[in-house]
Amino acid sequence: MPQATRSSTVYDVCIIGSGAAGGQAAKVLTEGGLNVVMLEAGPEVHPERDYKEHMWPYDLPHRGVGVGGKARHIVGNEFLAPNGAWEIEGEPYVSAPGSTFRWFRSRIVGGRTNHWGRIALRFAPVDFKARSTDGMGDDWPITYEEVAPYYDKVESYIGVFGTKENIPSAPDGVFLTPPKPRCTETFIKKSCDALNILCVPSRMAILTKPLNGRAACHYCGQCDRGCITASNFSSSQVLIPPAQNTGRFTLITGAMAREIVVGKNGKAEAVSYIDKATLTEQRVKARAFVVGASACESARLLLNSKSTLFPDGLGNSSGVIGRYLTDSVGSSGTGHFPQFEKMPPHNHDGVGGMHMYMPWWKFDRKNDFLRGYHIEFGGGRSMPGVGEFDGLCREYEGYGAPLKQRCRSAYGTFIGFAGRGEMIPNENSYCEIDPQQVDKWGIPVLRFHWQWSDNEIKMARDMQETFRSIVESAGGRYVTHTFTDGPNPYGIADGGVIIHELGTVRMGTNPKTSALNKYCQVHDVKNVFVTDAACFVSNPDKNPTLTILALSWRASDYLLNEAKKGNL
Ligand SMILES: Cc1cc2nc3c(=O)[nH]c(=O)nc-3n(C[C@H](O)[C@H](O)[C@H](O)COP(=O)(O)OP(=O)(O)OC[C@H]3O[C@@H](n4cnc5c(N)ncnc54)[C@H](O)[C@@H]3O)c2cc1C
Ligand code: SF4
Repeated sequence: MPQATRSSTVYDVCIIGSGAAGGQAAKVLTEGGLNVVMLEAGPEVHPERDYKEHMWPYDLPHRGVGVGGKARHIVGNEFLAPNGAWEIEGEPYVSAPGSTFRWFRSRIVGGRTNHWGRIALRFAPVDFKARSTDGMGDDWPITYEEVAPYYDKVESYIGVFGTKENIPSAPDGVFLTPPKPRCTETFIKKSCDALNILCVPSRMAILTKPLNGRAACHYCGQCDRGCITASNFSSSQVLIPPAQNTGRFTLITGAMAREIVVGKNGKAEAVSYIDKATLTEQRVKARAFVVGASACESARLLLNSKSTLFPDGLGNSSGVIGRYLTDSVGSSGTGHFPQFEKMPPHNHDGVGGMHMYMPWWKFDRKNDFLRGYHIEFGGGRSMPGVGEFDGLCREYEGYGAPLKQRCRSAYGTFIGFAGRGEMIPNENSYCEIDPQQVDKWGIPVLRFHWQWSDNEIKMARDMQETFRSIVESAGGRYVTHTFTDGPNPYGIADGGVIIHELGTVRMGTNPKTSALNKYCQVHDVKNVFVTDAACFVSNPDKNPTLTILALSWRASDYLLNEAKKGNL
């Protein structure tokens, strides 16, 4: 490795990663008066140039599906917000023999908050007390009541729509008025009502009225391509600009952090990073460090930060870093409703995502699995996506006008359902540094081990049965077929596919069984904080990003106070 170039500047804080966790920390710390430098592996994003919000498929090379249609069915094809992908050239990762794990990464300012579905759900009080409730997993060292004020702050600042419902498994928040349900959503709600399944307005980080200088949503339905008017939340548009406005923020893009360097006194003193433009090793110094590179990248960085004091990686005296890796349990299904063929054309505009969803509704019953799941659903006549009519073209022979007519009549007659459930950490699911493979800069990469337990498989079965009953009770035909065994029983998605991977640097009260304290501060190295989902103790059915934002804000407040007291 070449000699690192050292800058003489010592910042108050160095943040690694600019996604939900890093962006939130940057805003709070700079506004709190600290001088902050941020290292981000990707380039800057320019929404008006880089987002494809109002583009048609035919405006893009290969209609957005890549050479030979390679990117047709993958999240991250050219039709989405930029620089997010399952595979990044020169930056491999490894699935251990017998394991399948997929890892969606973004290399761009704002990280995956440029791509996310904007579903913004609070964890429930019981989610922080998993072990006390059913004896599995572990309790968090914090309670819902401690996090709730930060949920309030985040929702008030970023804007989340929803309705107060008083559902124990899905706490209410500070909500903007939600958009009205679309025709298909009203239709499915009726079926849910008949089956006693809760179906309520969804909760999403999208503005239905102007907020903090951001325009309200204009209902183009294109959120996953990025929103030029910043009407939905991304770190790049909502958190980084206020940090920049303080004049105390330095953003270094194209900077791939390789190692956090610890001094003789046991405190972190610098980060070594690869400057991708010059392929040189650089070093930036700070008094404190916030790691927010995303759960698995953060674990990788800490495990690669080996020193005489920390031979197993920075903060890893407990050996837990990389362990307790979970993703959401995901299984999907589709209903076909031929009766929609006769539906007159109507306005189906809305946000880029669902206006209603089903929160976990069986919380007061004994189920044949522990914990719960929620259901996301969507369909109807929104703008057809890339590959929308593939299935139909396979099913119906012919071409030209008859095929077009068939596509027209089938358009909007399918409704898709996706379950998102809680995985309980198990000892066979974790990541570690691969002993052989390195990325294009010579940085050792991660190797993933993955196994679902019976609990998750039973949950996926329950999801399939529920989707079928909702579809059939609404007079539709359930068209999804899943197998009861094989690698994906009941359609359970491979590990990582739901993109809610977390838990790899978990918090806890006991430094022997956790890496962080309840403020995301590394037990072993007090001036390092890990504020992304690596710090999570459990992975409830709720999508994680709202909680990342809340915990990163909370940790940053604590860091500010410690800095004021001179404790860092
Ligand atoms: C298609 C999609 C849909 C999703 N939908 C939802 C949803 O509806 N609701 C929800 O809650 N969540 C959703 N998610 C997940 C959500 O995007 C993540 O939970 C969230 O972005 C994680 O934030 P983060 O800050 O931990 O990491 P990221 O947002 O991944 O940001 C990490 C940043 O760190 C940078 N980085 C990584 N390693 C290094 C390094 N070594 N040096 C310097 N920089 C580095 C990366 O380039 C990146 O910019 C979705 C994700 C995707 C991709
Ligand atoms: S639906 Fe609304 S929030 Fe989403 S991209 Fe369009 S204007 Fe932006």
